[in-house]
Amino acid sequence: MPQARSTLEEPPRAGRVAEQRYWDPAVETLPRPELEALQLSALRDHLDHAYQGSRWYRRAFDAAGVAPGEIRSLADIVRLPFLDKALLRDRQLAAPLLGDLAAVDEREVVYVSASSGSTGVPTLSPFTASDFDAFQDVQAAQGLDPARDLALSRIIVAGEPGGSIPATRAAIEALWDADLYDFYGISDIFGASAGMCEEKDGLHLAEDHHLLEVLDPATGAPVADGQPGEMVLTTLQKRARPMVRFRTGDVVTRDDSPCHCGRTHARIRVHGRTDDMFIVNGVNVFPSDVEVVVRSLEDVSGEYRITLFREQHLTRFDLEVERRAGSTIRDAALADGVRAAFKNRLGLGPRGVVIHAEGILPRSVHKAKRVVDRREG
Ligand SMILES: [Zn+2]
Repeated sequence: MPQARSTLEEPPRAGRVAEQRYWDPAVETLPRPELEALQLSALRDHLDHAYQGSRWYRRAFDAAGVAPGEIRSLADIVRLPFLDKALLRDRQLAAPLLGDLAAVDEREVVYVSASSGSTGVPTLSPFTASDFDAFQDVQAAQGLDPARDLALSRIIVAGEPGGSIPATRAAIEALWDADLYDFYGISDIFGASAGMCEEKDGLHLAEDHHLLEVLDPATGAPVADGQPGEMVLTTLQKRARPMVRFRTGDVVTRDDSPCHCGRTHARIRVHGRTDDMFIVNGVNVFPSDVEVVVRSLEDVSGEYRITLFREQHLTRFDLEVERRAGSTIRDAALADGVRAAFKNRLGLGPRGVVIHAEGILPRSVHKAKRVVDRREG
């Protein structure tokens, strides 16, 4: 005798949309050896496409004495020359409209994005129809569906380190009563290249679309595992303009340890721009490090400004913070607390600490500029 149907079938729950954990489970959870094999095969095809389609790549690879077919392992990537923002701008001016790094005919380009120009003139990034599909695919690597998620149950941020700083993220989440996810993108490659998963511990890079190198910005040599270095990205599938060894100017650490979410793609933690880094007592300091310390203190608002200066040929810095409205701690005690928190986290501290009332320091609405450099030369 048949049982009642309701014991066999889960009734639909009104108002609840089924959560899809992965966008592409096969790719996102691929075991590392298979992921790396996929990257190598894509890289070899991609370099061949760049060499055949782009005048600049043909000249650059010839000048480096490397034919695409000679790249037989991912490690061989170091034989190829770097690209940077200045070169993209130069080649765009030398061969309008899209520059001679483009590897397809302009008629195949269906979409062009322009960079935000944080370091100068905007550069154009062309996409073919298949690139544009890949762009959507990479954005989905964050598991975010704008139609479902932009109702402020979830907030998606990018372009600033704050979304990956737990105290900053918690403050924004509390303000909006929403879940916050950070992502990383550069318009010269994809608007979104890496995104935060539900574990909120680093951003998974879409490694089926990018090959990641983490290099010492001064020497170009790989840094030791887990150490911060400049992120250098090579696209693996972008047809319109392949990007080989693009120096992003962003300093990251790479984490290959397994993530609880099950994705196998490496996670990055973004520390800041190579330009914003300064060295105090031999320690590399990024504004994001300062933000972590400032946001961990209860009696300050979280806004800050750093002024760099030289003292006997060494870099020092002063720090301005704001006393949170309602805090009653004395200025001297607050300044001592700030110094102690710095010492604790970075092993060094600001020379001077200036305490303002809340609301005095400038708020920025786009790319925050919180470092004033008064060093000469
Ligand atoms: Zn994860």
